[in-house]
Amino acid sequence: MSAEALVATRAAGLAQLQAVLPRLGRAYAAGRNLDHGPGRPQAVSGLSPWIRRRLVTEEEVARAAVAAHGGAADKFVEEVIWRGYFKGWLERRPQVWSNYLRGRDADLERLARDAKLQARVAAAEAGRTGLACFDAFAQELVATGTLHNHARMWFASLWIFTLGLPWRLGADFFLRHLLDGDPASNTLGWRWVAGLHTRGKVYAATAANIAQYSGGRFAPRPEDIVTPAHGLEAEEPGGWPALQPLRALIAPQRDVPSLWLITEEDCGLTGLFPDSFAWRGAATLSASQLRSPRPVASRVATFEAAALRDAATRTGFPATELTANDPAALVACARDAGATQIVTAEVPQGPLRDWLTAAAPALAAAGITLAEWRRPWDATLWPFATAGFFKVRERIPRLLAEMRVA
Ligand SMILES: Cc1cc2nc3c(=O)[nH]c(=O)nc-3n(C[C@H](O)[C@H](O)[C@H](O)COP(=O)(O)OP(=O)(O)OC[C@H]3O[C@@H](n4cnc5c(N)ncnc54)[C@H](O)[C@@H]3O)c2cc1C
Repeated sequence: MSAEALVATRAAGLAQLQAVLPRLGRAYAAGRNLDHGPGRPQAVSGLSPWIRRRLVTEEEVARAAVAAHGGAADKFVEEVIWRGYFKGWLERRPQVWSNYLRGRDADLERLARDAKLQARVAAAEAGRTGLACFDAFAQELVATGTLHNHARMWFASLWIFTLGLPWRLGADFFLRHLLDGDPASNTLGWRWVAGLHTRGKVYAATAANIAQYSGGRFAPRPEDIVTPAHGLEAEEPGGWPALQPLRALIAPQRDVPSLWLITEEDCGLTGLFPDSFAWRGAATLSASQLRSPRPVASRVATFEAAALRDAATRTGFPATELTANDPAALVACARDAGATQIVTAEVPQGPLRDWLTAAAPALAAAGITLAEWRRPWDATLWPFATAGFFKVRERIPRLLAEMRVA
């Protein structure tokens, strides 16, 4: 599907699910590693821009795939669960997100001072390094806002080990351009490639693997690609930082006058807030500009705005469109609606969570509570996202039964 064809509505996401559903069984498992390139048919679903905003939920796609293919959907369902695993993992180790931000800002400061680094990063982002496959992936990302999973792995590995560039600047480049850009999947995807996620394991792109899985598009020379002997130096002393308990949310109170706040963390609405609330109105909060201090691709903001509008329409209330900059606007919106409680689907670790945390004193001073609701899917999965994926994988049948997917 071309980037232009991506429509940020729940209806479009469901239509994409129906279109790809017949191939989410054996065909997905057999073909998911092959990247034929932009505009060509792929075995993967292309659903991530919708799933990332929960215009279509993980639960819905997993249920549809299992209903259509039974056990042959295992590989697809496992990949869907990787998303929740990464999200849960970052919830349990939020220090990894703050360390990423600190490190990224330090890398950006270094970039501003170091003209040579600037030139190398600019060449990589523009796809002008001379390494044909890498250059094509960079240009595809900027032109379309998407990239196949295998291409993301190759790209990140080449960025870090062959080009020797700071990994967080690569992660930042992805976040600024990916339509599905997600703080957990992106940060931990890059850390996984760099050898920072799974101890002793690094993802090394090889010439043979790229030639085999790029659909005959590229044939890099082995000597053009650096094979790392080991991953990057661990940033947190002693490996991963200590495991934290899941964040305790303030539960929404149904009788309190409430403003329904919609963010791109959850535009699904289906299955949200099982109780009826004393709704006084709705608001949307766009936040894609928070992804990076550098300019975020306009395609990302446009997709987010459309997703928020689509969700707002489905609440049945006229919604005020807010942007996450001055918290005073959110306070005023709640006050004008006569609400003393803002109710939203949980906002997990990432730039918007940070913004809401910073906005908390302004809300509290105005006597407004921010209540969040955790989806059962996350509540079931996240307690197990404490170590490597294997711990989750071995529980998938039980988790799916609990989530009533299989
Ligand atoms: C360096 C790197 C950065 C990444 N950054 C992001 C990101 O910002 N946002 C994002 O959604 N995914 C990210 N991924 C994961 C993965 O590449 C995309 O989810 C996938 O390419 C989306 O395409 P699809 O919908 O066709 O996937 P499919 O293969 O059809 O999978 C179905 C769904 O499962 C989930 N999924 C599949 N693979 C993964 C994975 N490895 N990790 C987490 N979830 C997965 C996605 O929600 C996806 O839509 C990253 C991977 C790497 C290696």
